[in-house]
Amino acid sequence: MGSITVLIKKNLLIVLFLAVFISTLSAKKDNYLKSTHLKGNTLTFTFKYKLDDVKFFTLKNRGIIKYVYDIKNAVLPNTKSIKNYKHEGVRAFRMGQFSKNYLRVVIESKYTHYKTYSIHGKVLTLNLPKVKNPKREKKYSPTVIIDAGHGGYDIGASHGKIIEKKITLALALKLEKQLSHRGYKVYMTRKSDKHLYLYERSDFANKKKGKIFISLHLNASPRRKHKNYIYKGIEIFYMSGASKKKRYSNKKIYTSKWKKEKSYLLGKAIKKGMLKSVRKKYIVLDKGLKENNFWVIRGTKMPAILIENGYLTDKYEGKRLTINSYQNLLVKGIADGVDAYFNRK
Ligand SMILES: [Zn+2]
Repeated sequence: MGSITVLIKKNLLIVLFLAVFISTLSAKKDNYLKSTHLKGNTLTFTFKYKLDDVKFFTLKNRGIIKYVYDIKNAVLPNTKSIKNYKHEGVRAFRMGQFSKNYLRVVIESKYTHYKTYSIHGKVLTLNLPKVKNPKREKKYSPTVIIDAGHGGYDIGASHGKIIEKKITLALALKLEKQLSHRGYKVYMTRKSDKHLYLYERSDFANKKKGKIFISLHLNASPRRKHKNYIYKGIEIFYMSGASKKKRYSNKKIYTSKWKKEKSYLLGKAIKKGMLKSVRKKYIVLDKGLKENNFWVIRGTKMPAILIENGYLTDKYEGKRLTINSYQNLLVKGIADGVDAYFNRK
């Protein structure tokens, strides 16, 4: 009897030992990459378990250095990627399952650096190459002129308590903030409830050497409504060269082909941005991008558009236009359009 118990105990021990051994083996096999994070000059990789070892070497070819990190017993889930990361000292980020036992990370750069990586438990930290003698990229900040339509005794269109000059100013102030925040140099034709003649607006824009001119307005339906016409939605106008008639005989108009084309592209980008932004929450009609002879878009030297942000006479749109959150959506869309026009996205 006694010897049998010993034998069972022995077998049990072996089974237990094997179980522990196998479990540690499989644990190592499944050392999945859980997350990656790029911040400043460091790129971190966090794994499920403690890391074993990293083999590091460099390969040089035609002025490009490949920093190669082979991470032992690491597994790459196919949902993880670093190829979209951007860093000024790095040309390309790559990562792949090099073999069953190694996950390989490659950082391509023109720059040499020495302190390259460190391991702390489950975390591998790579120090990215810094740009040597960084050429200060000249920060290009285009000048944008924002024109809040109407002002002072010229209240614009109105519908009950909804008054055009107030909404255009609210939108303009928000847009100024948004564009300044995005790095543009911004000038406003008016920042308060003040009257300005149309030529004063275009003169101001020309004096400030704006790269683009955006005039903000609101639409209203006429008293005698046309059948089959819907009086709501966003409509944008750009300069028409068709007529040579001038509102002010002593002022020049600017109707070159270049300006017209640029104005069209600006209008297109802004309409797209606006509709995308407002349609996240509302159903908003696209009233199109059209040519017009409005003074402010002809008297300005730079590409210019006039935005009719909506109809204040529409039961729903009118009310919506007075609400902060809707104004913010409009302004975000305009700013996105400006970014797209200047290829800043
Ligand atoms: Zn107006």
